[in-house]
Amino acid sequence: MISFAGVGKSFGDNHVLRELDLSVAEGEKVSIIGPSGSGKTTILRLLMTLEGPDSGLVQVDGETLWDCRSGSAVDARKQSEVRRKIGMVFQHFNLFPHMTVLDNVTLSPVRVLGMGKEEARQRAVELLQLVGLDSHLSHKPGQLSGGQQQRVAIARALAMRPKVMLFDEVTSALDPELIGEVLSVIRDLANTTSMTMLLVTHEMRFAEEISDRVLMFDSGAVVESGPPHQIFETPQHERTQRFLKAVL
Ligand code: ATP
Repeated sequence: MISFAGVGKSFGDNHVLRELDLSVAEGEKVSIIGPSGSGKTTILRLLMTLEGPDSGLVQVDGETLWDCRSGSAVDARKQSEVRRKIGMVFQHFNLFPHMTVLDNVTLSPVRVLGMGKEEARQRAVELLQLVGLDSHLSHKPGQLSGGQQQRVAIARALAMRPKVMLFDEVTSALDPELIGEVLSVIRDLANTTSMTMLLVTHEMRFAEEISDRVLMFDSGAVVESGPPHQIFETPQHERTQRFLKAVL
C-alpha cells in the first residue's frame, strides 16, 4: 500500500532521510519508533505532500506520489488524487478554531469530495459517535479538552474515507490523564478496520499492543524492523537496545 524506494531528503546540510526503503502492506498497522530528530515525522510529511523528497520513489496504493528518478514532476492533479487516499492526525490537532465540531468534520467531505451536506452531516455524526463526541456537535474546539480535540481530529480525518491513516505523535501534546482516551479510539480503529495505519509514537506499550510491525528508526534509516514482541523483548540491533533501555 505504501512504498518508499531509495528516498533521500535533506534540509540544507541535514540529511534527514538516507536512501530509505520501506513498505507497508494493505491493512497493516505499523509503528515507527526512534529518537527525536531521526526523521520519523518527515516520512509522514512526504506522504501528505507537505514536503518533497530529493531522491527516490514514493508510491501509495500502486500509484506514484513522488518520483525523483524520471526528472519530471508527477502531475499535480494526479498527485492530489493519490494524496486524498491518506488521512493524517497531527500532534497539535490543527482544527479550525472558529468552526463548530460538526463543521470541522463536514467541511472537507463537502468541499473536496463534493458530498451533499446532509450526507456529510450524517456521516460526521456517526464518526463523532465513534469517538464519543456526538454530544458536542455545536461546541467550538476551544471549549473542548485536548483529548476531545484530538478525537475530533481523528473523526475529521476519517470523514474523508482514507485508505491510509497516519498518526504523528498524537498524544505528545496532551496532559497525561487525557492520553488514554485518544489511544483507546486508535486502538478500536486498529482492531476494527482494514485501513492501513502508520503511526509515529513515543508510546511504546501502545505500539507493542496495536502494531503488526514496529520499525526502529535512527539517523534517517530503518535500523530494525519486526513484530512488536521481537523488537521490544529481543531487539537485535545495539541501537534499538540502547533506545529502549533509555525510554522504557
Ligand atoms: P521528533 O520525534 O522530535 O518529532 P522526528 O524523528 O519526527 O523527531 P523529524 O521531525 O522528521 O524528526 O525531523 C528530522 C530533522 O529534520 C530534524 O533535525 C528537524 O529539525 C529537521 N527538519 C524537519 N523539518 C524541517 C524543515 N521544514 N526545515 C528544516 N529542518 C527541518
